[in-house]
Amino acid sequence: MAFSEKSGVVYLVGAGPGDPGLLTVRGAELLDVADVVVYDSLVNPALLSYCPRAELIFVGKRAANHAMPQTQINELLVAKGLAGKRVVRLKGGDPFVFGRGGEECEALSASGVRFEVVPGITAAIAAAAYAGIPATHRNLNSSFTFITGHEKEENYRDEQAIARDAAGDKAEAGDLDYAALAKLPAIAFYMGVKSLPRICRRLIDHGMPADTPAATIQWGTLPSQRTVTATVSTIAEAASAAKIGAPAITLIGQVVKLRETLGWFENRPLFGKRIVVTRTRQQASELSQQLRELGAEVLEAPTIELAEPADFGAVDAALKSASAYDWIVFTSANGVVAAKNRLMRLGLDVRALWAAKIAAIGDATAAAVQRELCLRVDLCPESFVAEALADELIARGEAKAGKRFLLLRADIARPILREKLLEAGAKVDDVAVYETRRPVELPENVIEAIRQGRVDWITFTSSSTAKNFSELLPADARNLIAGINRVSIGPVTTQTLAALGWNPTIEARIYNVSGVVDAIIAFETQKSDK
Ligand code: SAH
Repeated sequence: MAFSEKSGVVYLVGAGPGDPGLLTVRGAELLDVADVVVYDSLVNPALLSYCPRAELIFVGKRAANHAMPQTQINELLVAKGLAGKRVVRLKGGDPFVFGRGGEECEALSASGVRFEVVPGITAAIAAAAYAGIPATHRNLNSSFTFITGHEKEENYRDEQAIARDAAGDKAEAGDLDYAALAKLPAIAFYMGVKSLPRICRRLIDHGMPADTPAATIQWGTLPSQRTVTATVSTIAEAASAAKIGAPAITLIGQVVKLRETLGWFENRPLFGKRIVVTRTRQQASELSQQLRELGAEVLEAPTIELAEPADFGAVDAALKSASAYDWIVFTSANGVVAAKNRLMRLGLDVRALWAAKIAAIGDATAAAVQRELCLRVDLCPESFVAEALADELIARGEAKAGKRFLLLRADIARPILREKLLEAGAKVDDVAVYETRRPVELPENVIEAIRQGRVDWITFTSSSTAKNFSELLPADARNLIAGINRVSIGPVTTQTLAALGWNPTIEARIYNVSGVVDAIIAFETQKSDK
């Protein structure tokens, strides 16, 4: 059928197996421009942040009601296509591997809606790789076979199976040719967790050696990945004992043995650790990213929101006469960005700051000054706290009568820096270039994880995040914090935590985000060495 001119395009995009990083570049590009995204339950919700402007339609299974029937999904895709939309049909893994993508394309083709297919990394290949199992190895197998364990609800029966049924093969699970499967050197079963005992028994009945290595991998490529290894005769029992449920892939073949030496994903230092990150919404990503890189599952709990000052009067006056100061002090990367934005808004630029020397607390702040303002920092004390900066300025003879300081900080900045400089005789303008607010509530998944005892660590990277976190926690969850490991970024945050009755388990040696990460790793490694 000829394609209609007005019709849109439906892109069947493989979302990959779970790890959002395994989406293809083409897939990400299409999500970015999609008008409509139709997605399943196995698609990682994190991928939905790639399509900010699309209408999102979920067609997977929900707890109570069932998945949208396939015919209805086909109709939806056709209708959206005919309406001229750019539709991304986002499917777990690869759209054509047990994904019913073929049926969707048939429906689109029959209705004259143009479609394209973007392959994805299928679960068997990805879960195997992340479990340290190469799909093929020259010495062990020259084929690798995808099979569906087709639990009843999936209702996946091919034409040969139907023919075997018609021919009177009434054996249970007669829709797979076990005599043929038992001879294969490496097979991957999709969907068959519940049918695993039957599948394995029939493979052995048809001649597969009972000691053939086998592995079942649940939630492959995700921080929650779990792998059970056994043999084809024992894997069903082992998986059930380990309470492995869907989604899981079972691999059977000699390649599974390689996992003993090639395992990597589950061996990363923080694998299996669930860590709550309490930060400002804007800043969580750096710490979260470092922790995820090391294998942790990160739950973000934004406890501070940044906002513009209600009144810019003091900020504007200070920035307009910035060249009158001897020193300008930044104490956070947020302050640097806020100052830059305001300068631009005032029709000024960094030349307004030309005469002053620049001080920063913390290496991240110093980096932001260079990056955002193209200015070198004249002073960044080794210890990343306000006291250290004040002492250093005084020791250098910079803070004395006649010297003028401009502090561009948050509304909740501690007074100590101002006080010490004033005491030394300097003149200080302490200006709130941005304000902080407490969010209305914590994300429900964070509170639930705490209630269920599933959190290993909570990170505290400032006094205000600690205070706000405590205020936002419901009382029952608050009582559980004492039983969870807590890491503090430095002495000031530690004091606040102590006052809240939450003395930290450990404090970072260097008072920055990397220091927090290093402290957790040191603690965990020491524990596992014991
Ligand atoms: N089109 C998908 C498969 C859909 S069928 C693909 O190419 O991967 C759904 C089955 O895929 C699940 O029952 C499970 O067997 C497997 N699966 C999907 N994601 C998985 C994951 N992260 N880990 C293990 N198995 C997964």
